[in-house]
Amino acid sequence: MKTLKVDHIGIAVQSIGEALKFYSDILGLKLAGEEVVQEQKVKTAFLPIGDTEVELLESTAPDGPIAKFIEKKGEGIQHIAFLVDNIEEALKELGEKGVKMIDQKPRMGAGEKRIAFLHPKDTYGVLVELCEKK
Ligand code: ZN
Repeated sequence: MKTLKVDHIGIAVQSIGEALKFYSDILGLKLAGEEVVQEQKVKTAFLPIGDTEVELLESTAPDGPIAKFIEKKGEGIQHIAFLVDNIEEALKELGEKGVKMIDQKPRMGAGEKRIAFLHPKDTYGVLVELCEKK
């Protein structure tokens, strides 16, 4: 597999509007867009910085994965996403090497990227997302 760069860092927040007061107004990152991913019950906001992006994640439902994450751990870094050149190939290779995966097959994420999550158990406690640009 070819891992190209850190595509984005996902940060779980109670409110994107509130979080932008820091990430945008104070830190100076520019909001590039917002998108609701219905299937994940999440609203995302992307703030590009250099060759990567900060992804703010706000839950759209009390039973969504982001709401559950905040309930357990509080706001903070929820996942790190690595860009790969071929996500199918990457998942196949990881599977062969016995890496535990949450998604066996890629699914659609924000920005029409194909994404898949690996299990934190095999990634030293980090929820790792692989993504591939369409
Ligand atoms: Zn992500």
